[in-house]
Amino acid sequence: MKLKVLGTQSPYNTKKHNCPGFFIQEGENLLMLDCGSGTHKMLKYPKDLKNLSVIISHLHRDHYNDIYNLQYASFVFHNQKRIDSPINIYLPQSPNSINEDIKAESNSFANYHEISENTKINIGNMQVTFCTTDHPVETYAIKVTNGKTSIVYTSDTSFTSKDRIVQFAKGAYLLICEASLLESYGFPEINSHLTAKQAGIIAKEAKVKELMLTHFWPEENTIQYLKEAKKEFKRVVIAKEGRSKKIN
Ligand SMILES: [Zn+2]
Ligand SMILES: [Zn+2]
Repeated sequence: MKLKVLGTQSPYNTKKHNCPGFFIQEGENLLMLDCGSGTHKMLKYPKDLKNLSVIISHLHRDHYNDIYNLQYASFVFHNQKRIDSPINIYLPQSPNSINEDIKAESNSFANYHEISENTKINIGNMQVTFCTTDHPVETYAIKVTNGKTSIVYTSDTSFTSKDRIVQFAKGAYLLICEASLLESYGFPEINSHLTAKQAGIIAKEAKVKELMLTHFWPEENTIQYLKEAKKEFKRVVIAKEGRSKKIN
C-alpha cells in the first residue's frame, strides 16, 4: 500500500496546510480517508476519480468539507465521458441533516453507503474495518489492511476510548493518530481530542511499528508535538502534506 498525506491541520486550512485527509493506493484502487478543506486539490483529475472510494470518518466540517468539490468534479467528468464509474462515498448516518445534505447533491456521480461499527468493506485487495471513538458526533477509527500489512487512522477521539483504539490498532504497521493538543494546553477531555503524549501512549500499548501524528493546531510549531510524543514512543513522524510512504 502507498500512503500519501493530503491534510494535517484543524480547524481550518491555511496556505501550506489542509484539513485532515489521507490517500491510500493499492494496485489500481484508490481510497481517501477524510476530505477536509483543501485536500481535493492534492488529487489529479480526472485520473484519481477512477476507482475512488472516499470514507468520511465523521461529519465535522474539517473532515468532510471537500466532499462537495469531489461530487461536482465527478459530475462534470462523467458528463464529459472521462470517467465511467461512480465514486463511492462512505459516511456515518448522523448527524442526519449533514448525511442527507451530502446525499442530496444531484450534480454528482457517486454511490453512497452508510458505515457502522460492524461494516466491512472490500476494495480490491484492501479490507476496511471500523471502531467507534468517543467524540461529540458519531466517529470511526478506520483500519485498512491488504492481508500483509495494515494502517490504522484514529480520526478524532478523546482518550476515554483509548482501550478500544489500542485493541483495534494492535500490531498495525502504521498508526496515524490525531494529536490536536499539547500537555501544556491541559484538560484534553474537555476538547474531546488527544494530546501528543496520549497518542504516544496508544502507539506504545498497541505495539505498532510507526506512529504518524496529525490534526495539528495551526498556530503551533509541530516540533512540540513530536517532542511530547517521543517521550512515550520513539518511532514517530509528523504528517506533512504531500509526503508519500510505502507501507509493506
Ligand atoms: Zn471532530
Ligand atoms: Zn477534526
